[in-house]
Amino acid sequence: MSFSADKIKADFMILNQLVNEEPLVYLDNAATSQKPTTVLATVEQYYRRNNANVHRGVHTLAERATAQYEAARQKVQHFIHAKESAEVLFTRGTTTSLNWVAKSYGEASVHQGDEILISVMEHHSNIVPWQQLAKRQQAVLKYIDITPEGLLDMNSLRSQLTSKTKIVSLAHVSNVLGVVNPIQEIAHLVHEAGAVLVVDGAQAVPHQKVDVQELDVDFYAFSGHKMLGPTGIGVLYGKRHLLEQMEPVEFGGEMIDIVTEQESTWKELPWKFEAGTPNIAGAIGLGAAIDYMEAIGVDNIQQHEQELMQYLWPKLTAIPGLTIYGPAKLEQRTGIITFNLEDIHPHDVATAMDMEGVAIRAGNHCTQPLMTRLGCGSSARASFYVYNTTADADKFVEALIATKEFFS
Ligand code: PLP
Repeated sequence: MSFSADKIKADFMILNQLVNEEPLVYLDNAATSQKPTTVLATVEQYYRRNNANVHRGVHTLAERATAQYEAARQKVQHFIHAKESAEVLFTRGTTTSLNWVAKSYGEASVHQGDEILISVMEHHSNIVPWQQLAKRQQAVLKYIDITPEGLLDMNSLRSQLTSKTKIVSLAHVSNVLGVVNPIQEIAHLVHEAGAVLVVDGAQAVPHQKVDVQELDVDFYAFSGHKMLGPTGIGVLYGKRHLLEQMEPVEFGGEMIDIVTEQESTWKELPWKFEAGTPNIAGAIGLGAAIDYMEAIGVDNIQQHEQELMQYLWPKLTAIPGLTIYGPAKLEQRTGIITFNLEDIHPHDVATAMDMEGVAIRAGNHCTQPLMTRLGCGSSARASFYVYNTTADADKFVEALIATKEFFS
């Protein structure tokens, strides 16, 4: 497929509508992405033709549902280049994945006085589970700072990484600053210190090639709904030797092998972690989203977003009174633009933009420590994806200028 964002946009029926009598320009992709027709059709087809519980029945529908569910796991495995599909656990999303690591691996490996290292740019989903773990285990939660340009401060990381550090957990791509952290280099440092590296890939997997073996991460979490798939499905990748030593977080049907009145044993990986009826349609829909992304080519998606940013950046930076957070160098950024416009409240900016049909996000973006670090309580955010066009970028700039004039 040769790349045409206009052609791709046609696959997303939701984008073909008027909002407040203006054509919708959807720029809230970091919150959640839209879903192409093929994903919708796959989910519908599953419910229409194949709906049954997985791993339990011997009837035809149960076998079809199980085959589709496990095929989706294999698609994820190949997509992130995991060694084997047993290392791919289906979860509800990034938040659940990170909670599982904190609860299961964390409680077994972090003890009194040990240290957990995260960064000030993390999403609340990659802060709160570690705060809770630190409290339970009487451990210490430490923060890596950012540089004045808004990059992860590698000196801060190096100086805080000690033999007491048991877990380092970092975003691959920041959902506010839009920067890509050098995960491969970090993995090397973390392993040298004898710790494990957990990566929050929620904003990376939808936009760039992720190879968990090449990165040498120990755990990697991401969400289906940010990568053209359904809500309520996500992934936790873990290296086999770590997952094997971990206890399941939830218990019940599906994850057991033998249950007696007082004792139970668990299934093999990956099923020992997937208690209860899983989100079967969600997993199958995620598989369809991966097929869609692969047909376009993840490198092409990344290149398109970079080209869009090159197109947008000079127009944006020419707007007086616009403060953009994160690096000033375009090559250090992805398709996320977090900003404030003069002293207009970001909620007012987002509401005014919505009147122009432009959907952006306003608030703290689930990153209150980062907002404090940046010295702003809240901000507005536009985030671009594969179906956004240069016309969308133009409309965004036009609506920003109109908003500024309206409030002046
Ligand atoms: N981490 C990052 C960087 C995110 O941007 C998000 C979602 O906004 C999450 C974690 C949480 O993802 P979910 O709500 O899908 O669990």
